[in-house]
Amino acid sequence: MIKITSISKRLCCALVIFSGFSLFAQDNINEVHVHTPSRPACVLPPGEFTGLISVPRAPETAARMEAGGSPCATFVVSYNGFTPEAQAAFQYAVDIWANSIESPVPINVNAQFTSLGAGVLGSAGAATFLTITSGAPGSQPNTFYPAALWEKLEGEDRSMFGGSNDINANFSSDTNWYFGTDANPPAGQFDFVSVVLHELGHGLGFAGFANVEDSFPDDIGDIRFNGAASIYDAFIENGAGDAILSFPDPSAALAAQLVGNDLYCNGPTAIAQLNQGGTLPRTFAPTSWQPGSSYSHWNNSTFPNGDVNSLMTSSIGPGQANHNPGFITLGFFQDMGWSICAGALSVEELTVENVSISPNPFVDSIDITLKEGNVSDYSVSLIDINGRFVNTVKQDNNNGTLTLSNLNNLDTALYFVKITNEITGNSITKKVVKN
Ligand SMILES: [Zn+2]
Repeated sequence: MIKITSISKRLCCALVIFSGFSLFAQDNINEVHVHTPSRPACVLPPGEFTGLISVPRAPETAARMEAGGSPCATFVVSYNGFTPEAQAAFQYAVDIWANSIESPVPINVNAQFTSLGAGVLGSAGAATFLTITSGAPGSQPNTFYPAALWEKLEGEDRSMFGGSNDINANFSSDTNWYFGTDANPPAGQFDFVSVVLHELGHGLGFAGFANVEDSFPDDIGDIRFNGAASIYDAFIENGAGDAILSFPDPSAALAAQLVGNDLYCNGPTAIAQLNQGGTLPRTFAPTSWQPGSSYSHWNNSTFPNGDVNSLMTSSIGPGQANHNPGFITLGFFQDMGWSICAGALSVEELTVENVSISPNPFVDSIDITLKEGNVSDYSVSLIDINGRFVNTVKQDNNNGTLTLSNLNNLDTALYFVKITNEITGNSITKKVVKN
């Protein structure tokens, strides 16, 4: 709800400080600090992929969209340069997010369909970030929030602090797009809905501030603007459990962490959604800094192509569709302060304890045994390290065991077994080795 009294009070009392020409004063809780990023959180290159992969909408989201009721959030999109079919596909992606997250305040998106040059599918990010001074429930002090999340937590529009767009998003008009909304792009075409869904995810908050600058003798990492990091940064730690925000800023030590291939999200809901005995979901931290890719994505090999949680990895290839934000991503969003539409988070029956895979390593076949009581329809897929589906079984789980067979001719390598409950869309992925 927009509270007029709150707005007028804020206008008279709040001192708005824009980054770049003021120091940050941590002891003045009335100061809302505003930071406008100089670069988008994500610049998405075309991925290399051979084959076809389709991850449909989450069943709850699909049901909500088909029912045609009120979405959980309202998006207002300003379309610039779009063809009618591009706009229709964009709106479909918007509707998926509108039926995945909740906000009482409309989310304003400025969308451009334009030439972005070779090698870029799209780019996006929050138009601006703001700190929260009100102590709104679920918010952290001295932390920048993307505009749409700031509005959700504060319950009011942010335009009093300048500007009205919450998300800026750009999409290449030169790409060989598939504009259908059925998550079935043909080989060689990029699925527009998937790319829009991905980029809007960055605009809504899958975006940290970390950066690495070339320097001699050591590269230097930085992560704060005027003393504050983003809410995304607050949930990132390394494999030893050291918070990324605990390293000196700026410093070579911070840069080393950002390219250490060892960063994880420690959001409790994200961990619960991963549901692997407390394992932290891994983020993308390749050993060379890749602007627009490093840091603000999930790790590609942890969430391979076809994994229900792979939307926010750093690459989308042709022939590949993912229309599901992913329940780990939504869990992370909840940790950052978003509310999630009822039913969108996984209540997971596919726990590590409930699934056994043998033998591992395997030679010719793999048996996947589910504990009794799991009588729904499951599918089991074998996926190679490049995300290609090698083998898929879909059968009723009456006897509690699913078998992938005739695997003798596969190369000796690491593979992934993905077990999906076709009713709920929930899945888990486990690594297996071919001998
Ligand atoms: Zn991205």
